[in-house]
Amino acid sequence: MAEDDPLRPPQDSRRFFMLPQAPMDSGYYVYGNFRGRPAKGAYQFAHPIMMTAILRVALEWQAIDKRRIGIGDISLAGGSRPPDHDSHRSGLELDVRPLRKDGHEESIRWWEPQYDKESTAKLIELFRTFAPVVTVLFNGPDIPFVNHYAGHDDHFHIKLRG
Ligand SMILES: [Zn+2]
Repeated sequence: MAEDDPLRPPQDSRRFFMLPQAPMDSGYYVYGNFRGRPAKGAYQFAHPIMMTAILRVALEWQAIDKRRIGIGDISLAGGSRPPDHDSHRSGLELDVRPLRKDGHEESIRWWEPQYDKESTAKLIELFRTFAPVVTVLFNGPDIPFVNHYAGHDDHFHIKLRG
């Protein structure tokens, strides 16, 4: 493909690709804002190990559930420092929304009635099965392996081994 091919996925200075912005049948949707605007993938440059993990988990998820999973911040192009985090610079860290019982592709916090704990635990288990997960940060109670961390009520943060 030519460099200026509009179908060529954006690639950064690390040669990391932007996560494909969720074709309808991919099993996931993308969310996130950067500097107050929809990020449109700006915050979704993924290390190849992370890219493989997301696509694989979404595929596995799609086989068991009709709802799509919400994929958020990964890293900015070139791994530059995001204004809101010290982390999320390696392309090996990812924010994911908990599942909602109503399937709406919207934010949910773990204490809200639409939070689907069982499915969220299942999704975390899929990441642990199909990706080299070293850490999961999330405040929702009673999920194996997960550590609590300030601010992690409406998403879980996954870190992979590079
Ligand atoms: Zn995070």
